[in-house]
Amino acid sequence: MTMYEIIQKKKEEKVLSKEEISFFVQGFTRGEIPDYQAAALMMAICFSGMNEEETAILTEEMMYSGDVLDLTLLVGACTVDKHSTGGVGDKTTLILAPIVASCGAVVAKMSGRGLGHTGGTVDKMESVPGMKTSLPSESFFKIAKEIGICVVGQSGNFAPADKKMYALRDVTATVNSIPLIASSIMSKKLASGAENIVLDVKYGSGAFMKTPEEAKKLAETMVSIGKRLGRKVSALVTDMDSPLGTHIGNALEVKEAVTVLQGKGDAELTRLCLILSSHMLSLAKNITPEEGRKLAEDALFSGKAFDKMKQWFSHQGGDIAFLDDPSGLSLSAYSCQVLSEKEGYLSKMKTDEIGLSAGELGAGRKTKEDQI
Ligand code: URA
Repeated sequence: MTMYEIIQKKKEEKVLSKEEISFFVQGFTRGEIPDYQAAALMMAICFSGMNEEETAILTEEMMYSGDVLDLTLLVGACTVDKHSTGGVGDKTTLILAPIVASCGAVVAKMSGRGLGHTGGTVDKMESVPGMKTSLPSESFFKIAKEIGICVVGQSGNFAPADKKMYALRDVTATVNSIPLIASSIMSKKLASGAENIVLDVKYGSGAFMKTPEEAKKLAETMVSIGKRLGRKVSALVTDMDSPLGTHIGNALEVKEAVTVLQGKGDAELTRLCLILSSHMLSLAKNITPEEGRKLAEDALFSGKAFDKMKQWFSHQGGDIAFLDDPSGLSLSAYSCQVLSEKEGYLSKMKTDEIGLSAGELGAGRKTKEDQI
């Protein structure tokens, strides 16, 4: 078997075998296949696509290229994760993790940092003084087991194949391919070990996928991968044509999350969090989404979820006085409120540009080394 033959076969729109996909992923991860051949194959995949089986095999190979956790073994039953394909003002993890944890599901989650126009949950959490998002793995499992929730930054050696492939895709115009995006996201999610996964697939001006149709195709591909690999996965396709909620910026988003958990938040953001929570609870507890919705609403409006958020932050070292009174959180030197001059609806925003502006003001990074 040679890379030349594999590239040629995919260029001719033929189906690759498990052996061929494995040869590529393993060889490339070990540094035995040069970047130019890997890039040529990924370009061929962009044009010729992959069927569901090839995509699942590619994902599995990428997932097993590094560490793989089994959270059921490490933390117990009912683990559930949520992945958003990225957006602006997306603080849903801060809200739904305490909602579902206060209903008995376990969220032991690794979250990303902001890069480009999208924000990162870990950066938002760190705007609360004392909050630690890098913990030894024993502490991570222990907190999750004890209180049902722990969220840390990505660490460990998960899906190293994806790291190499993504870096190459980024500079060879091969990011935008559904089998490549789906396998990239799912290899990391599956390696981090949750039994149940809810995907929030965004479309619109602030998202990778610009139309609901493209987002639906990506969602279906990722659900099919998860099912083939033995996990329970569901997906929602949601709007990112305008920022989520009313606040953008790390500390501002923590403040908004608190407002939602106090039952006084933006209606649309609250609704999205309740819907995502209901699907997470449905998978984790084997109940219907309607039953999940009822549990989620009770947890949110009774204050149970806000109490869980405080317990969560205090277990990770955060000073929860700032959750009781977020007005003390330190903000960027530049922040402003933009109010409409008249009644009406906003039909469109350049959401990605709003996210980039927040990044310019210090909420995100241009390179991984930049300071928030
Ligand atoms: N996010 C990922 O992790 N991978 C992609 O390919 C696109 C978005």
